[in-house]
Amino acid sequence: MPQTPNSLHARDIEYTIHPYTNLRAHEEQGPLVITRGDGVYVFDDEGKSYIEGMAGLWCTSLGFSEKRLAEAARKQMEVLPYSQIFSHRSHEPVIELAERVVSMAPASIAKAFFVNSGSEAIDTAIKLIWYYQNGRGKPNKKRIIGRRRAYHGITIAAGHLTGLPYARTGFDLPMSDRFFHVTPPSLYSEGNPGETEEQFTDRLATELDTLIITLGPDTVAAFFAEPVMGAGGVIVPPLSYFPKIQAVLRKHDVLMVSDEVICGFGRTGNWWGAETMGIEPDLMTIAKQLSSAYLPIAGVLMSQSFYEGLADQSAAIGNLGTGYTYSGHPVAAAVALETLRIYDEDEILNHVREVSPHFKRRLDALGGHPLVGEARGVGLIGAVEIVKDKASKTHFDPAIKINAQVAAQAQAHGVILRPVPIDSVGICPPLIITRSEIDMMFDGLEKALDGVATSTLIAA
Ligand code: PMP
Repeated sequence: MPQTPNSLHARDIEYTIHPYTNLRAHEEQGPLVITRGDGVYVFDDEGKSYIEGMAGLWCTSLGFSEKRLAEAARKQMEVLPYSQIFSHRSHEPVIELAERVVSMAPASIAKAFFVNSGSEAIDTAIKLIWYYQNGRGKPNKKRIIGRRRAYHGITIAAGHLTGLPYARTGFDLPMSDRFFHVTPPSLYSEGNPGETEEQFTDRLATELDTLIITLGPDTVAAFFAEPVMGAGGVIVPPLSYFPKIQAVLRKHDVLMVSDEVICGFGRTGNWWGAETMGIEPDLMTIAKQLSSAYLPIAGVLMSQSFYEGLADQSAAIGNLGTGYTYSGHPVAAAVALETLRIYDEDEILNHVREVSPHFKRRLDALGGHPLVGEARGVGLIGAVEIVKDKASKTHFDPAIKINAQVAAQAQAHGVILRPVPIDSVGICPPLIITRSEIDMMFDGLEKALDGVATSTLIAA
C-alpha cells in the first residue's frame, strides 16, 4: 500500500489506537482499511474483496448491505433521535424491543435491561447479581465462577470473568478475589486419555461441585458460561455437559447466566445457544446479532424471580442505581427491532438450518488436513485447531503464531477469518451466507492451510 502523508494508512498510524493490536507493530505494518460492504463481502481501499468469514467480530448476521436497517435508523432519527429511560421515562422503540426479545427468549426469561456492549452487559449482570444477593439478605453470596478460555469482555468486572489471561495481563487485574475459573468443556484439549464424553462431563460437573463446596455454597452467587465458547477457541461442549452443570448449580442455589453475546439470535441453529445446549438460564446477556451490529446495543435478560429480588431491593434502597446514558437508545432499539423483523420475515433460522449441514460437512472435511487436529462447530460457527502432530496433539512453537499465519494466508485468498486460542482459526460468517459462499470461504481456508503446511514443511 503506497503511503503518502495523507493516505488513510498514514493517518491511521498517526492518530488511531487499535484495540487488541501490537501498537509498535502497527506503526510498521499499518491497517487493512475496509471501505464498504455488500452482502457477506467487504472491500478494502484498493478494491480487493473479501468474504467476511467472521461476520466482523461474530456479529453482522445480516451482512453488510441491509438497506432496511439503514432506513429504520433514518426514520427513528427523524422522529426521536434520543430519549432517556432513567427515572420512569420511556419510549416506544425500547418498550417494543423489550417485549419482542422477552417473547422470543426461553420461557424462564421475563424482563430486559438494555446497555450498549457485551462487556457492559456482563458488568451489569454481575452488579445486578450482587445487588440481588444483598436484597435477599445474602451479602456473602457474591462469588462468580466462569471457565478458563471464556470470553466475557474486558471492562473491569468482565475482565475478571474472562478466562483468557490477555484480558488481565498488564492491566493490574485481578483486583478482586471474587472470580474463579473451572475447566472448559473441550474433550479434545482437556480430556484424559481414553476418557469418554460422559466421564469427561461427569468430571467437570464434579470439579464445579467440589469448588462450590470448598468455597462454601453460601458464598457463590453465579456461574457464567457461553453456550459455545467463541473467542476462546470455539469450544462446542458435549451435549451432556450443561444439564450436569445446571444440576450442580441448582443444588447450591447458584444462578446460571448464559452469555449469548455470540450464540444469541440463531448462530447455533436455534434462537439461543441455551436451547442448543440444554441450558435453562436465570439470566442471559445479549449483544452483537441483536442489531446485526449495525448499531451498538446489548442487554441483560432475567427471570421473573430474579426481577422480583431486584425490585424489592430497589424499593428498599429507593433506586436501582445503575444504567447508561444510551441504555435503550431509541435509534439502536429501532434498528434491533427491524433486525428481529427481518429474521422473522426472511426465516433466518430456517436458512441457518438449511445451510449449516453443508458448513459442517466442509468443516469436518478439514479434519482430514495434515495440519488440523480438530475441526469443530455447530450451526454457523466453527474452528479448526492446528497441530504439529495429530496423534500427540502437539502444538507448534507459539512464537511462530501458526494460526495467525493461516488467517493471513486466508486473507490473501480473499477470506477474513480470525486466529483464536489455542492455535485455532475461527469461522463465523454472516447468517445470510449461501451454500456457494460457504464453499468459497472453505476453499480459501483450505488453500491457506495448504500454503502454511508447505511453508512449515520447508522450514522444518
Ligand atoms: N461475551 C461474549 C461471549 C463475547 O464474545 C464478547 C465479545 N466478543 C463479549 C461478551 C464482550 O462484548 P463487547 O466486545 O461488545 O464488549
